[in-house]
Amino acid sequence: MDADEQALLALLNSTPVTGDGPVDLLDDEDYASTLARDLGGRGTGAEIRVLREVRDQLQDAVRAGLVPAGLDDALSGVVQRPLPLTQDGLRWELHGPAPRLPAARAVIAWAALASRRPGRLRACGNDECRLFLIDHTKGNTARWCSMSTCGNRMKARRHHSRTRGPSLDPSGGEQ
Ligand SMILES: [Zn+2]
Repeated sequence: MDADEQALLALLNSTPVTGDGPVDLLDDEDYASTLARDLGGRGTGAEIRVLREVRDQLQDAVRAGLVPAGLDDALSGVVQRPLPLTQDGLRWELHGPAPRLPAARAVIAWAALASRRPGRLRACGNDECRLFLIDHTKGNTARWCSMSTCGNRMKARRHHSRTRGPSLDPSGGEQ
């Protein structure tokens, strides 16, 4: 996973459900400005405002498999220029309206994933969880944001319903 993919996933996963209910990690100024800097920005409040908007649109895009109409706005006026080649390959520098650059980098990472590895970025299979995952398995079989949290929770739930009688799960339980 490259740095932009990692930052994109962190952005998508910034609305987790905790013991106290859903939270927005972008409300935490330190967290939000670090994330904006990870996406090539300076961590300003204006960048964070655009990031929050684009995050909501990207979450919808991944969940619904559709491209929300407003998503193009984040890229408007943004150009990519190549940085000098290194052994790590080619990196691009973004230029354009400063407040939109971190959000634009996230949208570019999302679009690159969609074309290079279609279907690999998706919502966690636990419908009470609001996190996302990028599936790196060979067979594209990962279902949970994390095996240690959602994976085990869902396994325990299936076990619980099996030991209580016939499964009401229309999918037939084990998958
Ligand atoms: Zn999950």
